[in-house]
Amino acid sequence: MIVVLIGPPASGKGTQAGAICQRFGIPQISTGDMLRAAKAAGTPLGLAAARVMDLGQLVPDEVVIGLVDERIKHVDCQPGFLLDGFPRTVPQAEALERVLVRAGRKLDAVVQLDVPRALLVERAILRRTDKRTGKIYHLKYNPPPADAVLEHRADDQEAQVNKRLDAYEDITSALLPFYQGRGLLRRVEGVGSLDEVRARVVAALDA
Ligand code: AMP
Repeated sequence: MIVVLIGPPASGKGTQAGAICQRFGIPQISTGDMLRAAKAAGTPLGLAAARVMDLGQLVPDEVVIGLVDERIKHVDCQPGFLLDGFPRTVPQAEALERVLVRAGRKLDAVVQLDVPRALLVERAILRRTDKRTGKIYHLKYNPPPADAVLEHRADDQEAQVNKRLDAYEDITSALLPFYQGRGLLRRVEGVGSLDEVRARVVAALDA
């Protein structure tokens, strides 16, 4: 199964992606996580991307396309994979199609997590990641355990969150008609408890 998960920043993509991957036994490919890992490792790519990411802007298409093209060749992607945060532009979606055609594969579904903008800012500002486990928490709705080592993403500050939401509305939302036209889009209501949303995502994929 090859799935794309689309949603605005803080819509729950990362959390839901983990649950879907567990259920279907496929790896989660998050371009945001890959870029943050490159930044933490201090690679030239990571450092260049970090400047753009910290401003809440999109990294150039060719950078993320290269990362994904390389990653999906790994053996663990043979049963399928879930793309979380990629594609984010129409040229990225077109590149993904070309890469999959070359590999003799095809996309099975695109899940869109729909959450109103008003909720997203609060979600992002109070979001924290446990550095040791990579698990994502929310200080109000999904509090972390006492021993968590918490990190607040640089791009989860209010000004950057608003820029990222603008980028989603101006650029990434063009993917919805793109995938609708290909009969792949499945819209899922992203407001509710983690379990409720997870059940909706799984139902959309089982359908
Ligand atoms: P995410 O963790 O998916 O919210 O991504 C964090 C940041 O990484 C984004 O705000 C972008 O700066 C960058 N990024 C991640 N994926 C992409 C992508 N597909 N295209 C461009 N930039 C990306």
